[in-house]
Amino acid sequence: MPSPDEATRRLPVARATRFACRRCGDCCRWRPVELTPAEAERLERDGPAALGRLGPVSATVRRRGRLLRFLRRRADGACIFLADPAECRLQTALGAEAKPLACRTYPWEFVPRSAAEAPPLLAASFTCSSVARAEGEGLTSQREEAAGLLEELEAASRLPPAPTPAFARALRYPREDLERLCELLLAEFEDARRPFPARALVAAKFLDLVAASRFPSLRTPTTRRQLDAFHEGIRAQTERGLLRAPTAPPSRAQRLLLGSLLARACRPEPPALATASGLRRAAHRLGDGLALLAFWAGSGLVQPWDRARRVVLGTVRRTAPRADPAAPCADAALTRYFVAKLSQPFLYAPHHALRTAQASLGLLLRVYPMALLLARAACLARSGTEVDASDYASALRTIDRAFARTAWDRGALGRLRARLLGDFDAALALVPSCAAPPPTPSAA
Ligand code: SF4
Repeated sequence: MPSPDEATRRLPVARATRFACRRCGDCCRWRPVELTPAEAERLERDGPAALGRLGPVSATVRRRGRLLRFLRRRADGACIFLADPAECRLQTALGAEAKPLACRTYPWEFVPRSAAEAPPLLAASFTCSSVARAEGEGLTSQREEAAGLLEELEAASRLPPAPTPAFARALRYPREDLERLCELLLAEFEDARRPFPARALVAAKFLDLVAASRFPSLRTPTTRRQLDAFHEGIRAQTERGLLRAPTAPPSRAQRLLLGSLLARACRPEPPALATASGLRRAAHRLGDGLALLAFWAGSGLVQPWDRARRVVLGTVRRTAPRADPAAPCADAALTRYFVAKLSQPFLYAPHHALRTAQASLGLLLRVYPMALLLARAACLARSGTEVDASDYASALRTIDRAFARTAWDRGALGRLRARLLGDFDAALALVPSCAAPPPTPSAA
């Protein structure tokens, strides 16, 4: 392994993120594994022996004019090298170094920072069960190993460029300004003196005010002071009970948008789709459309992560136990997720597919109602009577698989979605209907 130099050894890390590989093998079952050309060549030569049978171990596809190589999958969708329960045949036969870079780096993510020469920030994906459950040590203790892998990724040109979102359409702030916004939000979510719902309320009101102000720049000393004053003022008003979460039900458009987000989160792409034919991909898209209609109608099927049973969204809403966002297990999970995302900062994660920070931040706020609803689904799927920490971990894994990987704000419909996502207050208006069953007629 290349020895990391001094700069990369000092990799900054996303806060509130813990990880320790539990050797569950889960990541080998759902993630398509893309190979570098050198890896594809090496594995075609050495892989069949590790596998114990002849035949190609990778598949090639053309996507947008580029030839991509992926490891083949078994009929059940798992990697062909996975031996049950969780043994990698490549590692067993040839050592850990023989595994593709995509396997050795998961679940770490490297997020570029503003200064071009600064090493990227080390984060981790909540799709990993260990990260979602906050098991193991913080990322600081893993910097050295990650730094070595970063060098390999750089040498193989596997670090995609960071996206550069505008704040909103026709409102382009430089990256430092957006990072300042994220810092203020981060400070809010890290302040554990108040429960999560109070912190989310401050964040939503603050962002609504920033969006409405349409400052031409956030950099000038005056606007910086104003931003601080907005934040402090909203905080003080919330503490005195002068600002409250919306009590009016969300608009129909906002409910439809939530249905779309849930459909995307609950219907992830099967890993074999990465190398599937155009016809199969088109069939999957058609299935996406049908799932969307089902979620809009409230009858979509939810397959919570780590749960064997699927549940119907409408049944979850009506019968699953309520989720209290201020309860310790909910507060801890939601705080962890928001702090991890805002300290990255997630807007510049290479997989981030949204063009505006306003829509991205609105999407992040919608993780709040979605996590409550999906945690209830996970509880119902295990026939539980109380939503617990494992249900929130399941919900966060489900959400993070789709989070920001979908280009929600592209195309004609995308503009409408971006506008809806940019309504921060509306994200909180969705919380009551996601957190608890609807009141019975006698209780209403
Ligand atoms: S190559 Fe090994 S580590 Fe990578 S996905 Fe396959 S079984 Fe898992």
